[in-house]
Amino acid sequence: MNTTINTGRVITRFGAELLVENLSQSSSQNSLQAPVRCTAKRKFDTIVCGDSINWHHNPHGNASVDDLLPRTNALTRPGYRGRPRTIAANIDQLVIVNSWLPETSWDLVDRYLIAAKQLNAQAVIVMNKSDLAEEHATEEDWQAMKTYQDIGYQVLQMNALTGEGTKELQDLMSDKTSIFSGRSGVGKSSIANKIMPELDITVGIISDSGEGKHTTTTATLYKLPKGGYLIDSPGVRDYALGNIDTQDLSDGYIEFKDPSEYCRFNNCSHDHEPGCSVRSAVDNGEISKQRYQRYIQALHAL
Ligand code: GDP
Ligand code: ZN
Repeated sequence: MNTTINTGRVITRFGAELLVENLSQSSSQNSLQAPVRCTAKRKFDTIVCGDSINWHHNPHGNASVDDLLPRTNALTRPGYRGRPRTIAANIDQLVIVNSWLPETSWDLVDRYLIAAKQLNAQAVIVMNKSDLAEEHATEEDWQAMKTYQDIGYQVLQMNALTGEGTKELQDLMSDKTSIFSGRSGVGKSSIANKIMPELDITVGIISDSGEGKHTTTTATLYKLPKGGYLIDSPGVRDYALGNIDTQDLSDGYIEFKDPSEYCRFNNCSHDHEPGCSVRSAVDNGEISKQRYQRYIQALHAL
């Protein structure tokens, strides 16, 4: 009987049952290994999609969870009575999906970037429906995209109908665990289908077992054919900012970091304070006025 402790990554969970990707190398199988079903004790109720765990085969022919391994971060949503509920863990990157119709709200893009920073995750900005850009994109929109690029974000033009940008997105996702965020109708499902044409093996395995159809309300980890993972579910896609304080907000405007070292006050909110170097950087054109104005608006709305 093999009682070796293995490592694994949680694909999804159904009550006390976890579907786990086996990450322990087995010499006889270097091809794709089938997911393992693991039973989790009560104390592992907090384990979610994306978690790394230790597990072992037990003598009864099934497998059990031994340990939840430390997380890099966790995505939470307000649950019962507003108490935060964890829905996914270990997310490296937010893919912020936007389109020209419905039109892009740059406020919302900034909010997602703040969320990414709070999670200590990277962010990619996707502008989908490039076929509609000529008709709908304004000078201000192009300027906004350039600003994000100037401060270090990847901005990717895509067309989920033709596949434009698919390869570039796959490359950006290939060594990470990503989630898609963005408002309804921008093309998240269409893009997901493009990057995972053979959707979706893991879900199929569950349905075949006779335990009923797997609904996508629970977050699920998908292994991408070109490398990397996508964690997806309606709840993950609707992910929005929870409560943030002034510090989270200014941390989310990454281009403020360097100049803020020279603000007269340590706790400068870059609003009205004298000797604010962020404001000077806005005045001399180093920081985008539009980004700064959105920051100030968000600051006053806190
Ligand atoms: P989601 O709500 O973000 O998942 O968006 P969907 O993937 O369901 O797409 C919403 C609508 O936009 C669908 O009718 C898609 O066919 C359409 N769509 C998606 N990508 C593109 C695109 O690149 N160009 C155009 N013109 N339509 C697109
Ligand atoms: Zn300042």
